[in-house]
Amino acid sequence: MLDFNNTEIAFASKSKSELKNAYLLFSVMKHPGIVRLGKLASQIALKIHFPLAWIVKPTLYKQFVGGETLQDCTKYIEQLKRANVKATLDYSAESEQTPDGIQATLEETIRSIDFAKETPDIAYAVFKPSTITTDDILSKASEKKEKLTVEEIKEFREFRERFMQLCERAYHNNVRILVDAEDYCFQDAIDELTDEAMRRFNKERAIVFATLQMYRHDRMPYLRRIYDDAVEKNYYPGIKFVRGAYMEEERKRAELMGYPDPICKNKQETDENFDAGVQFVIEHIDRMELFMGTHNETSNYKLASLIDAYKLDRNTPRIYFSQLLGMSDNISFNLTHAGYNVTKYVPYAKVRDVLPYLLRRAEENTSVAGQTGRELRMLKAEMGRRKKSASPTYSN
Ligand SMILES: Cc1cc2nc3c(=O)[nH]c(=O)nc-3n(C[C@H](O)[C@H](O)[C@H](O)COP(=O)(O)OP(=O)(O)OC[C@H]3O[C@@H](n4cnc5c(N)ncnc54)[C@H](O)[C@@H]3O)c2cc1C
Repeated sequence: MLDFNNTEIAFASKSKSELKNAYLLFSVMKHPGIVRLGKLASQIALKIHFPLAWIVKPTLYKQFVGGETLQDCTKYIEQLKRANVKATLDYSAESEQTPDGIQATLEETIRSIDFAKETPDIAYAVFKPSTITTDDILSKASEKKEKLTVEEIKEFREFRERFMQLCERAYHNNVRILVDAEDYCFQDAIDELTDEAMRRFNKERAIVFATLQMYRHDRMPYLRRIYDDAVEKNYYPGIKFVRGAYMEEERKRAELMGYPDPICKNKQETDENFDAGVQFVIEHIDRMELFMGTHNETSNYKLASLIDAYKLDRNTPRIYFSQLLGMSDNISFNLTHAGYNVTKYVPYAKVRDVLPYLLRRAEENTSVAGQTGRELRMLKAEMGRRKKSASPTYSN
């Protein structure tokens, strides 16, 4: 029976000191004040080029990042493989939007797609569209496309070429590629290109995956549009579901700019939207593939039950569960132990470049208080369990 409380399975690959370090880190991240202060301090440090590696590397980086290079990540790929979990290597350098930085990110992402082809223990390649263009171009192409200048039209065309280059590479390598979802103000342009790439490269199977942030109340109609289009034009969409990582910024921006809030009015509505999306894809699994990225235990139990209820093979390659490296191991390893497909996102990049990703994880673990509490509870239970099983028992 699937049980996310089995800490022996969840932490089988972790040493005693790794458990202790993780416990310490989550205990600190529980405090919003410390995380806010850390965020401010690191932003200042970045601006004045103050070295950060000495503090970030043994703490946040060690918990949530695979390393600086693809090669560094091989130890995690091996570790995950032992538990039958696949890796999804995510080049997470988010800071450089200069022409050189964009080119370097493009080249590294191509290397990651080629690496995935050669490594059967990698389930997907992935990229974040804003790392291969600028925020300005993405937001303008999404919100005021008719106002793009000649120079901006050229820049958008170049972005489109890079985007398609990545998808085409994935197609030729027969590697599935996830297009991460981002801020609302970027997303129309990303959706437009993802739809186009799915029509081009998903003719025989799902290669390109669109990410739907189900905290957006307009995502079910978008999902149905994708499905209808796929039936009409005969292709196989890949759908990655997440709830969405930018809620607070989105609400603030909508208020500031005077447009309707794009986010569901409360958590329950987001949860219902998320469930409806997953259910829809399962009902159309002959036409679509599913990637579900969440640390929510209920969502993971629900999808596991749906797979069984629809009498699908637990290890059908068309359905993957996914969590981020360093988080919710109790979900990942218990799912795979029960025979379901799981992949862990393994981010990699230099400390400075991966900092925005790390700060999002720290904030997420602060704001999703329940989840942090759960991580701490699980880690404590496992440390206690090991202590008990190591101590000698006396009988008289
Ligand atoms: C493998 C993986 C890949 C990911 N890729 C992306 C990505 O490409 N793009 C992206 O944006 N995020 C991505 N995320 C992050 C994700 O969107 C969530 O921020 C994170 O997983 C927390 O949501 P949850 O479902 O795990 O947990 P839960 O605790 O169940 O949900 C928390 C989430 O619910 C929503 N929520 C919380 N309060 C409210 C409220 N009052 N009203 C409405 N909604 C609310 C928010 O989205 C919040 O993040 C990814 C996560 C994983 C695990």
